[in-house]
Amino acid sequence: MTDELIGKRVKVLDKGWIELIDLMPHPASAVSGDLAIVNAARVSFLGESKGAQRDKRLLFYLLRHRHTSPFEMVEFKFRVRAPLVTWWQWVRHRTWNMNAQSGRYTPFQENDFYVPAIWRRQSADNKQASEGRLAEQPSGELTQMLLAHYEEGYRLYSQALERGVSKEMARLFLPGFSVYYTWVAKVDAHNLMQFLRLRMADDAQYEIRVYADAIYQHFFAPALPWTAEAFQQFAFPADEA
Ligand SMILES: Cc1cc2nc3c(=O)[nH]c(=O)nc-3n(C[C@H](O)[C@H](O)[C@H](O)COP(=O)(O)OP(=O)(O)OC[C@H]3O[C@@H](n4cnc5c(N)ncnc54)[C@H](O)[C@@H]3O)c2cc1C
Repeated sequence: MTDELIGKRVKVLDKGWIELIDLMPHPASAVSGDLAIVNAARVSFLGESKGAQRDKRLLFYLLRHRHTSPFEMVEFKFRVRAPLVTWWQWVRHRTWNMNAQSGRYTPFQENDFYVPAIWRRQSADNKQASEGRLAEQPSGELTQMLLAHYEEGYRLYSQALERGVSKEMARLFLPGFSVYYTWVAKVDAHNLMQFLRLRMADDAQYEIRVYADAIYQHFFAPALPWTAEAFQQFAFPADEA
């Protein structure tokens, strides 16, 4: 079932996507990701699998009691296209290994900007968050203002390039937070769960939450079904609410 996971690409936001480019253990391996976690834990006793029921029980025990290192034995490598407003938050997760497209090498294209489908209101009780939506529709005045801003920024960027300004400086004319970038990003299952716990939560910004949701639904849960079940059970314990 996980055979098709590598190379699978899922669309996110208006122009973004996320693709799994590698997974350890490889889906073709005789050992599943969940079993790799269990086997790593059992090295304490120099043992391995003891049958599905006992293996799954051990995995739940490990996650519940925060025996985290066995979960680091599974690794996901993604290629991700996301706007800078998403990366700005993603890069704070220091346990990911990342490589980014460089605006110093690669010129930006005219449609490389994020256009939101709806405009969210400022939250009344959380200074950092948004809630609900403005009555304004996507084709409304705000979106037209944004598109005009992108057009002008891109026009100035192109003009600077034509005048011989370097790519690394010409990009100063672009609307920064909206620009789409492609990154390669690798993380182990333990730190991915930390990312998912924080970025799938209701208080995470929508523009990163949709990426976290896509990772969970399309890659994490299919690759690690037992771990995903345990994660759902223990990721948000009542005593931490
Ligand atoms: C809703 C929300 C709002 C936020 N608002 C802000 C904000 O206003 N301003 C802001 O600056 N950030 C903000 N952040 C980012 C937040 O502070 C974290 O930087 C980010 O969530 C990454 O979490 P992390 O450090 O647990 O992840 P990682 O960096 O992946 O680290 C995972 C874990 O590894 C350990 N670790 C990693 N590196 C070190 C280290 N050098 N020393 C010790 N332990 C380490 C820690 O236990 C850490 O929890 C926000 C995050 C969220 C989810």
